[in-house]
Amino acid sequence: MASGSQRGSADGRGHSPVLLKETVALLAPRPGGIYVDGTVGLGGHAEALLEAEPGITLVGIDCDEEALGHAATRLAPFGGPVHLVHGSYRDLAVHLRRLGIGAIDGVLLDLGLSSFQLDSPARGFSFRGEGPLDMRMDRSQGKTAADLVNRASAEELATLIRRYGEERFAQKIACAIVAARTRSPIQTTQELADLVRRAVPRRFHPERIDAATRTFQALRIAVNRELENLEQGLTAGFEALRAGGVMVAISYHSLEDRIVKTFLREKALACTCPPDFPVCVCGKAVEAEILTPRPILPSATEVSSNSRSRSAKLRAARKVI
Ligand code: SAH
Repeated sequence: MASGSQRGSADGRGHSPVLLKETVALLAPRPGGIYVDGTVGLGGHAEALLEAEPGITLVGIDCDEEALGHAATRLAPFGGPVHLVHGSYRDLAVHLRRLGIGAIDGVLLDLGLSSFQLDSPARGFSFRGEGPLDMRMDRSQGKTAADLVNRASAEELATLIRRYGEERFAQKIACAIVAARTRSPIQTTQELADLVRRAVPRRFHPERIDAATRTFQALRIAVNRELENLEQGLTAGFEALRAGGVMVAISYHSLEDRIVKTFLREKALACTCPPDFPVCVCGKAVEAEILTPRPILPSATEVSSNSRSRSAKLRAARKVI
């Protein structure tokens, strides 16, 4: 079980919460406040919030049931009102309604995968270990990566690998996938990783990352509908906040960060009418104050002790109306 002394370090399952102190400082939990951790994972951030202020109500949501089991063990010592919910943060409003909770004081989205998911070969997220091509965060539903890789058209595959992986050899990789699967279905992470590595011309293999990284990221985003969830989850989270409540989002790649940045900026904007309009017709009011004019990045020390934090960017805003 985790204890205070482990705060900020790996939790025995190899996962260290990213930008932990910064997150707690921004959410600044107050006695009696209600905080939603939309990606509770192994409960690292949730635990730190409860340690900072044991008198809070904490709602922890995760779509991965296995992770929730670990969060339950970790958060059990706090005894106070801790509600753990299996589901998507996209449906935050529904989850809160079921719990009889109205406005909340803070919401956290720590996006992406936990190291626990990435490091379990059986989950099929990693091109390092051998495992089934699954990649579902919520194993109770949806198509697996194998379904996608073996059934989508070459064009669909190329589009998603380009869009979600920002991979310049998307077309070549898609063709290689389709050629391989006509011989026999692609079933494991290694089969796919090797195929991608062969499809990317040797001299274009990136220096610092595996040539399969971008394709794996793309498939994972598609399988879990991560960007759609994020857009809906930001809206749902912001709507649930009371005036004065704070939203914190930690993203791990540019596609996610762009969505978070655009969302918060739009909330912080006043009238969006064209400048030559004599009077405002949009009626848009400033809804948020941005608390991070530039995203907060982890320190060099954090990056060296926790590789998951390497690409993290934290953005936060306070709801003003
Ligand atoms: N902050 C956590 C780690 C979060 S890792 C900790 O300190 O332990 C990200 C988590 O988000 C994973 O457990 C993943 O299953 C979950 N997740 C990703 N998308 C989700 C979604 N749409 N709804 C709920 N949980 C999601």
